[in-house]
Amino acid sequence: MQQKIIITIDGWSSCGKSTLAKQLARELGYLYIDSGAMYRAITLYFLRNHVDWTHLDAVHEALQHIKLTFMSNHKTGQSEMYLNGENVEYVIRDLVVAEKVSEVAAIREVREFAVKQQQDMGKNKGIVMDGRDIGTVVFPHAELKIFMTADNDIRVKRRFQELYEKNPNVTMEEVRANLEMRDYIDSHREVSPLRKADDALELDNSHVTMKEQLDIAKKWVQERLTQNA
Ligand code: C5P
Repeated sequence: MQQKIIITIDGWSSCGKSTLAKQLARELGYLYIDSGAMYRAITLYFLRNHVDWTHLDAVHEALQHIKLTFMSNHKTGQSEMYLNGENVEYVIRDLVVAEKVSEVAAIREVREFAVKQQQDMGKNKGIVMDGRDIGTVVFPHAELKIFMTADNDIRVKRRFQELYEKNPNVTMEEVRANLEMRDYIDSHREVSPLRKADDALELDNSHVTMKEQLDIAKKWVQERLTQNA
């Protein structure tokens, strides 16, 4: 049987990481994990339970009540995020959560909590995980690391279209401000800031189709599998 590898996909907000990660996982029969969903679910819990995350004790206490699981949706075949048994896949995409998630994700204890679970999920390899620190911190020895970028305007447009379908009140300016804020906090935080791993391959998908980007990534996977054979 062909050996399995770990594939990490990091990059800026809304540059298509999860689309590529899902496609690759499907093609290879690998597990797909959306690490951002975990930070979003933790943020949702904090917001709902009025957790004051500027106090470490409160964070510590709250984390003990959070159970995160991914389960496959039988209809779509997609993996979805569950928070303490509740499917939160859709609510965590809300701008209310997006406004706070980078603040919450910058807390060291929150990251330790999430990273440990992410590393456990990759124990048997055969996994594609997307996020901000997957190639640098979660799986520093991953066989294939991809760092994705795309033009700012294109990213804003893509995310706006996604959010607008669910909430027609959302504006392009709000979406732009949120992306800029998250990118700033994510790349300037003290713990595990977003950065390209030295050995990551860069994929700018501003002007390539989904099929083209998948073909590029599949070629990289093949190269890695051959190198490791
Ligand atoms: O990937 P997504 O945009 O859903 O992630 C939401 C937020 O979660 C990011 O803006 C970032 O603050 C945080 N995140 C992180 N580390 C990851 C994945 C996401 O800090 N590995």
